[in-house]
Amino acid sequence: MTFDLEKLVRPNILRLRPYSSARGEFAGEAEVFLDANENAFASPAGDGLNRYPDPLQKELKARVSELNRLATENIFIGNGSDEAIDLLFRIFCEPGRDNCIICPPTYGMYKVSADINDVAVKEVRLTADFQLDVSAVLNAVDEDTKLIFICSPNNPTGNLMRREDVIEIARAFNGIVVIDEAYIHFADTDSFTKELDRFPNLIVLQTFSKAWGMAGLRLGLAFADAAIIDLMNRVKPPYNVSGIAQRAVLEAIGKTDKMQAWVHETLRERSRLAGALEQFDLVTRIFPTDANFVLIRTSDANAIYRHLIDAGIVVRDRSNVELCEGSLRITVGTPEENSRLLDALASFGAIEPEAGN
Ligand code: PMP
Repeated sequence: MTFDLEKLVRPNILRLRPYSSARGEFAGEAEVFLDANENAFASPAGDGLNRYPDPLQKELKARVSELNRLATENIFIGNGSDEAIDLLFRIFCEPGRDNCIICPPTYGMYKVSADINDVAVKEVRLTADFQLDVSAVLNAVDEDTKLIFICSPNNPTGNLMRREDVIEIARAFNGIVVIDEAYIHFADTDSFTKELDRFPNLIVLQTFSKAWGMAGLRLGLAFADAAIIDLMNRVKPPYNVSGIAQRAVLEAIGKTDKMQAWVHETLRERSRLAGALEQFDLVTRIFPTDANFVLIRTSDANAIYRHLIDAGIVVRDRSNVELCEGSLRITVGTPEENSRLLDALASFGAIEPEAGN
């Protein structure tokens, strides 16, 4: 592999002189801040909210750095990992010319983000057992292919991609390989952050939205070579992560044991759910999962989906997705929620008593 980052980056981004924010320019100690046109009095909603947050989230990055054993210069923090996905298109892909490769069935935002940025998408389907078709992926690469997205554990199938396949692609491809590890905390495997030293073209995405229980805050992570992180920081909006989000995640990181306890409980419930689902005739297949959800193939996905809605339960209907025909994706909930789901499934097909009789 000959990896030349500068050749991959859009020329306008290489030339970019990023916005220099008031809070970004001043790093020392001061008492009076008249530099950012804020309301100097207060916020009606809480302490400190009248002030802009740290644009580079230094305190938070220091903690994320300890947690992931990576230098702060290898960490980008975004407004959800969806922001990181969008930034990568804007940094690397020339609209109307460049392309990316995705491996469906997979997370929908890669294609949506590509479409928004007018970047062509080459779809190389996963194999029937939901693994990467490595030679097809590499054959799809042309001189305008900038990004390959790999989701592991994959959404919506739930499985991990084979490690050696990911490595083979990273080794053979001269562009950027993005490994989306949104669900890594539920899987019994090492993060690809371990490979960043070996592969300067690798970007690992993680998020606080899943195991960490902070989807409402919007905070995602990208780990990569310092030169890539530097580009992401230059292109992002100056204050992309709110002060509330930064403070809340700092607090959460101090309570890793809580997150781990939920992960254990989720995994216990995942086994219970899978075991119970197996007993239903309407479930024709339960796909192996390394995430906090289970993909099941059913006898009649639409009818079951509607039946669950009537019972007040929403699952994700993936039956229109290629390779997922007839399938529903079910997030592992609390024990009570999972029991409600199982009860609702048990009543599927039963004759409902007519109202008034
Ligand atoms: N990647 C995958 C695979 C996901 O499933 C999701 C959310 N469903 C995301 C990224 C986006 O996560 P975030 O909340 O950090 O934007």
